[in-house]
Amino acid sequence: MLSHGVYSSGTTEGRQKFVPFTRHSAQTTLETFTLSAAYRSRVYPIREGGKILEFIYSGNQFKTKGGLIAGTATTHYYASEEFRIKQERTKSFTCSPYEVISAGDYKQSTYCHLLLGLFFSHDVEFITSAFVYGIVQAFRSFEELWRDLCNDIRHGTLSSRIKVPKMREAVLEIITANQSLASRIEGICEEVEVMDWFGLIPKLWPNAKYVYSIMTGSMQPYLKRLRHYANGLPLVSGDYGSSESWIGVNVDPSSPPESVTFAVVPTFSYFEFIPLYRHKHSCGSSHDAAADDDFVEDKPIPLSKVKVGQEYEIALTTFTGLYRCRLGDVVEVGGFHNGTPKLNFICRRKLILTVNIDKNTEKDLQAVVEKASYILQSQTNNNAELVDFTSYADLTTQPGCYVIFWEIKGDAHDHVLQSCSTEMDAAFVDYGYVVSRKTSSIGPLELCIVEKGTFKKILDCFVANGATLGQFKTPRCTNNPLLLNILHACTLKIFRSTAYA
Ligand code: AMP
Repeated sequence: MLSHGVYSSGTTEGRQKFVPFTRHSAQTTLETFTLSAAYRSRVYPIREGGKILEFIYSGNQFKTKGGLIAGTATTHYYASEEFRIKQERTKSFTCSPYEVISAGDYKQSTYCHLLLGLFFSHDVEFITSAFVYGIVQAFRSFEELWRDLCNDIRHGTLSSRIKVPKMREAVLEIITANQSLASRIEGICEEVEVMDWFGLIPKLWPNAKYVYSIMTGSMQPYLKRLRHYANGLPLVSGDYGSSESWIGVNVDPSSPPESVTFAVVPTFSYFEFIPLYRHKHSCGSSHDAAADDDFVEDKPIPLSKVKVGQEYEIALTTFTGLYRCRLGDVVEVGGFHNGTPKLNFICRRKLILTVNIDKNTEKDLQAVVEKASYILQSQTNNNAELVDFTSYADLTTQPGCYVIFWEIKGDAHDHVLQSCSTEMDAAFVDYGYVVSRKTSSIGPLELCIVEKGTFKKILDCFVANGATLGQFKTPRCTNNPLLLNILHACTLKIFRSTAYA
């Protein structure tokens, strides 16, 4: 039975998809979470009846003209019976009541998640969010909010910044004054603040066994900050799914996020795999293989025929009625688990940066930014750090060029940022880009430094347009005029690369 409609986050491509969501969708979410909890507990056993500090947020649900309830997948799930059943089955309970999750104002919800997480700090067995961005965002807020949080714990009060009446009521019903806990938290914060919050998580949550969240793909850039907060606490990569369907479960929780694979659960949907070949390879019976911008495709094959080492795009035929729906992700088969393929998430398929014959994906951009961010860190003695980034191909100038926006924390001299800009330009290895740069048919890369809080403004812009924090992914490339306006208005300095000069 079709019961709901779903908006996907749509943040990767800047537009929201509208896909159906049914009772079956909520049940597969329950299955995914209980399955992955079982695998995790083999490696990192947790106490029964313990708490989870979950940075989760649901958005608004509303009715379509046809009478379906619409909202994001996570919104439906948190409102469903399955969310409650999952907690009972896994014997782990979220610190925050539903009124906090569904308050509809992510800043206020984050405050309450933190407050309740601290209030139950001795019972917290692990910390989680759907995407790791959510955890990093929450701890960045914590750096600003900790004094107010301590004050509330000391007096059993709730800051006046929390305005949503139902949430206020629900939180005040739970917390009571706890002087000694407030003093303990205050002591820890004073100690770790001077170390730029290094090791904050295990200090505040001494019984936490791990941090669990999606850390792959576009979430990888946040790992550095998370590792800083977590100081060696295991990071367990979350499972692989989309608003259309769940796909796979992380059955090797001890694998580092950089090499994690997801075992496909064949009953979630009917999975087909479109073989992808880079740079117009010959591909077997490829006389009718369709050439795409970035890859050459072969005919889709069923799950039982996939090969280790091959890259594919997944097509889903779902129980909600989607027929051969392409997911837009590139995955690679890394091995098998009891006969089902284990997938490495490679990147979003769509090319994100292209001016003419050059082709660069999200993964290429990520690698280039990572290289330059080492320069930023090493030449500023770890004082400066990349907070977030995005990019676009500026075609309004002649010749066009790549523009990369960075928000940084800490201080960096202009000459360091200048080298970062040049480093990024030189680090794109795509042949089309290198040739175009050498022949000046693409201009020098521009690094724009934006003011502190710019990426929060971008998040707010998405949230104002109906996205939820839970499913938010910073777009790594954007043509969205609203975002470009924010980015340009917040640009403080521009550094043009001198590579290929
Ligand atoms: P949404 O559009 O909000 O439904 O998000 C689905 C998309 O999020 C997928 O198509 C992937 O691009 C991304 N995603 C989901 N799970 C993972 C994962 N474990 N690793 C990397 N990316 C993921």
